[in-house]
Parts: sequence; structure tokens; C-alpha cells
Amino acid sequence: MKKSVYNDALRYHEKGRPGKIQVVPTKPHETQYDLSLAYTPGVAQPCREIQRDPEEIYHYTSKGNLVAVVSNGTAVLGLGDIGPGAGKPVMEGKGMLFKIFADIDVFDIEVDEKDPDRLIDVVRAISPTFGGINLEDIKAPECFYIEERLKKDLDIPVFHDDQHGTAIISGAALLNALEITGKQIETIRVVISGAGAAAISCAKLYLQLGVKPENIVMFDSKGAVSNARSDLNESKKQFACARDYASLAEAMKGADLFLGLSVGNLVTADMVRSMAPSPIVFAMANPTPEIAYDEAVAARDDVIMATGRSDFPNQINNVLGFPFIFRGALDVRARVINEEMKIAAVKALADLAKEYVPELVTKAYNMENIVFGKDYIIPKPLDPRLITTVAPAVAKAAMETGVARKPITDWDEYERELGA
Ligand code: NAP
Ligand code: MG
Repeated sequence: MKKSVYNDALRYHEKGRPGKIQVVPTKPHETQYDLSLAYTPGVAQPCREIQRDPEEIYHYTSKGNLVAVVSNGTAVLGLGDIGPGAGKPVMEGKGMLFKIFADIDVFDIEVDEKDPDRLIDVVRAISPTFGGINLEDIKAPECFYIEERLKKDLDIPVFHDDQHGTAIISGAALLNALEITGKQIETIRVVISGAGAAAISCAKLYLQLGVKPENIVMFDSKGAVSNARSDLNESKKQFACARDYASLAEAMKGADLFLGLSVGNLVTADMVRSMAPSPIVFAMANPTPEIAYDEAVAARDDVIMATGRSDFPNQINNVLGFPFIFRGALDVRARVINEEMKIAAVKALADLAKEYVPELVTKAYNMENIVFGKDYIIPKPLDPRLITTVAPAVAKAAMETGVARKPITDWDEYERELGA
């Protein structure tokens, strides 16, 4: 990245009121009477109503549209354990994306706590404020335990985006890449580089989409995740394979899918050439992918390539998911974001990429036309149809699985509201 971007980013953040978000009142506050409604004595009445019926909190407060982006700063972007304060610009940024893509309000909560149980206690204690919890940039393997416990304890959606966002978006890209290459998900051989938050969650979701466990081999910083290892944590153990591959290069021979969620520059052109016909390469380490886009597509004509980067085709970008997944979940007051809701998001995203792309979108990307195929397997982030496609799919799945507390009845009206 150019140096000017770093300088511009500092100016951007410090200009005017420092930071990127602010709190804005939603009710009139011009007169003394307005203030007596907003605060004492009037405010006592909604308090009593909520005390009488706790569900009324959704009726009289901002809870239903308010998400906490919670981080302890232990795995921030590609920066690592930089601490809660240093992670705040990222969490504010996430809040901004929630707002501009799905009109969801966010309080970013940076917590100075690394102990998983104590972090769980903090989130549980502040949860009455929020309609949902987006866990962010919390390191593996603690993130798995923290999310699992909070999902059990709370009756609002808890979603660790670094895990599931990545899984959902790349899952959609995978379904479409397979459709283009004519391969069946049940038979593909998958090599995963990385065994952290994103890789483990992707592997779990791919199993649900039909990948066979015996067809997955995973690598971490020490090599193949195999039964021969004695140093594996619980989440890695689930993916330990019987065979102990000597190297990534060996495992990649004949593989149909390479999924990179590790570090940059691990994969060579020769390794891509050694893969099966029409291989799929998702090299998503940020900012430097496991193999550069240009290098992979130069290695062979039949590769379908995606990265996490916006400057190449097929960007696997989490912003395609979290704003709309939470939108759908909040709108039916879902108790959780369950597996069915995630799969619904995968399918909605995959299907949207196969539809005709309106001029509005092609113009936003300065392109002539955008057509489903090798260079367009996943929708573009600035596609306004994302909200009207993904949010209803997630909301419907919540209703069908019995986790919705406030069902939607008029779907046409709902989609109109979302598009407005
Ligand atoms: P993480 O939890 O820290 O996991 C990183 C994993 O990479 C760990 O399992 C680590 O091994 C492994 N690793 C490190 N060096 C390796 C090597 N030389 N060979 C094989 N594996 C190696 O991080 P994460 O949140 O899952 O993210 C991983 C990467 O994916 C980051 O670069 C992140 O930016 C990127 N990512 C991209 C997207 C996207 O583009 N949409 C989304 C999510 C994540 P150990 O377990 O042995 O430490
Ligand atoms: Mg993140």
C-alpha cells in the first residue's frame, strides 16, 4: 500500500471531531416539554412498561437496532495483539459499515480483558443494552470458547464475524466456483492453510455445504494438522487427518480447492500448476495473500482465483455479510444466528451473483458490464440488492427454525422498507 494512504488515513481520522462515529438523538428536543418526555418525569413511564413486560424494551428503546462490536484487541486485522485501545479505530470502522450498509447503530466496546471467562462476564453484563453482539478481532482459540458460551447464555444473536463472516462469504464463492467448473462439492479435495479463527470456521461451514471431512487437509504454522501431532488444540483436533503430509506442496498436488487463511507468500506458481484441473484458489491472507492474484492466474488458464483484496476480481469481503445478516436477525428479533441462517446467507449471496447486474453497480466499479463467471463469483459490496436479498433470507431462516420472536408477515413490504 502506498505511503500516502497511511498519511491520508491519519488525516481522515483526526479531521473535525476525532474518530468516525457519533451519537445522534432520534426524538425532538427543542422545547422544555420535549425534554420532560425524553427525561424526567416522562421517561419513568416507558421504564415502568419495560419493568412490567421486559419485551417492551424493544418498543421503547434503541435496543432492537443496536449492536455491540466487542473486542479485546488480541487479533486486530493483520496487526495481531495490539490491545483494546489500539483496536478502537477498527471497531469504529466496523460500526460505520454497519450503519452505512444496513442502518444498524453500533456502540464499539473495547475491553481490557484477555481472560475468556472474565470477558464473557463483561459481555453478559452489558448485554441488556443491545439487540445483538458482534465479537470482533478476538484471538483463536479463545474466540471459539467465548462465542460458544455467550451464544448459550444470551438470548440475542452473538456472532464472531472473523469466523463466520469469512466462512459465509467464501462459502458462497465456493458454491459458485464449483458451479462454473462443474465439480461436485462432495468429491472435492480441499487444502486449507491456516487453522485459526477464520480457517476453522470455514472448514466447519464447508462440511455443512457438503465437503467430506476425509477430503480436507489443514496446515498451521507447524505443518500438517495430523493425528501424529500431540500439540493440537480442540478446534484443530476436529480436522486432524490420518495422513501426515510432509509439506503444503505435497498436499496441493491434485487438490481442487486451496483455501488460504494464514500468511502471505506460501504458495508458488508450481504448486498451483500441480492442482487438479480447474482448481479454485482462495488466497485470503491480508494484506498479502498466500499467492498473488496475478501470479496464480498466470500459472494456469483454468484457475478460479479470489483474494481478500479490493484491487482484484472476486474479493471475499466480510462486508457482504455481517450488515445484512444482523439486519435480518434483528428484524425478526432472533434469539441467535444459527447454522440455518448462515446457510441461508450463503445461498442468497451465491444466487445474487448469478443475477443480471444493474448499471448502477457496473458504474460504481467503473466497469462495462459484470457477468457471472470466473472473474465474478461473488456480488460486489456496493450492490444495493445485497440488503434486500440477504436480510430477508436470514430473517426467513430464523422464522423457519423457530428462533424469531417477531415474525415478518408481509415480505414485499419488508423488502420495500429495506430498499428505501
Ligand atoms: P488467526 O486466528 O491468527 O490464524 C492464523 C493461522 O495461520 C494460525 O492457525 C497459524 O498457525 C497459521 N499460520 C501462520 N503461519 C503459517 C504458515 N507459515 N503456514 C501455515 N499456517 C500458518 O487469524 P485469522 O483471523 O484466522 O486470519 C488469518 C488470515 O486470514 C489473516 O491474514 C487475515 O487477515 C485473513 N482473513 C481474511 C479474510 C478475508 O479476506 N475476507 C477474512 C478473515 C481472515 P498456528 O495455529 O500454528 O499459529
Ligand atoms: Mg475482524
